[in-house]
Amino acid sequence: MTIADSGASDSSRYLHIKAAVERVNAQIQEACQRAQRAPSEVCLLAVSKTKPVSDIEHAYRAGQRHFGENYVQEGVEKITTLAHLPEVTWHFIGPLQSNKTKEVASHFDWMHSIDRLKIARRLDEQRPVGLPPLQVLIQINIDDEASKAGIRLDALTEFAAQLSAFEHLTLRGVMAIPKAYASEAEQCASFSRLASAFHQLQGSYPSVDTLSLGMSGDLEPAIAHGSTMVRIGTAIFGQRKG
Ligand SMILES: *Cc1c(COP(=O)(O)O)cnc(C)c1O
Repeated sequence: MTIADSGASDSSRYLHIKAAVERVNAQIQEACQRAQRAPSEVCLLAVSKTKPVSDIEHAYRAGQRHFGENYVQEGVEKITTLAHLPEVTWHFIGPLQSNKTKEVASHFDWMHSIDRLKIARRLDEQRPVGLPPLQVLIQINIDDEASKAGIRLDALTEFAAQLSAFEHLTLRGVMAIPKAYASEAEQCASFSRLASAFHQLQGSYPSVDTLSLGMSGDLEPAIAHGSTMVRIGTAIFGQRKG
């Protein structure tokens, strides 16, 4: 491949990602209109896991500022490589083992998948002095799936009270990864349960303003149920390998 070729394919990749970011933002706008909500209430988080740094740069150039990563090492490498880009907010959205909390505490702005006190305590202790508190979401296992991370809804009140005591963490809300529902009614029941728990939490904690719900396949019902942050990978960057 010549340099000219690689330049051409780079610019077509940029145009592709730019169009996708615009398409997803339009979808968010439409979903907000249908739900009679202001589009400014919903933040688009671009999930860039497994995708190259150049894809993130393209999305950034297209105006995207929030990025989500699932794997600690990969995420930290990308954050370090892209440290020169102003105003990027990095979200850790994957499962986290306690031996990797320091990396997340040191590099990320948000953490979506807290479901154990031990992890929270370590993140609090390891958040470097000089950085603002880590913005955290409690992951909820809304469908009580044995295979899935997250706390049960009935444990939310107590867990939130424990998290809110940490000085270097700010509790911002809740996050869920729903299952594949058999029907719209089932999805609606699950999303409604989560939304009402979120509203209840908001009543108790002024810092709580974020319901992280909705991916490429369920953005619209998530927004209809009050999501304030949609995590979109495939619809922006295309299918992931493997
Ligand atoms: C991968 C991932 C996403 C993005 O999913 P898409 O279907 O590609 O939009 C969102 N949230 C979490 C937690 C993920 O792991």
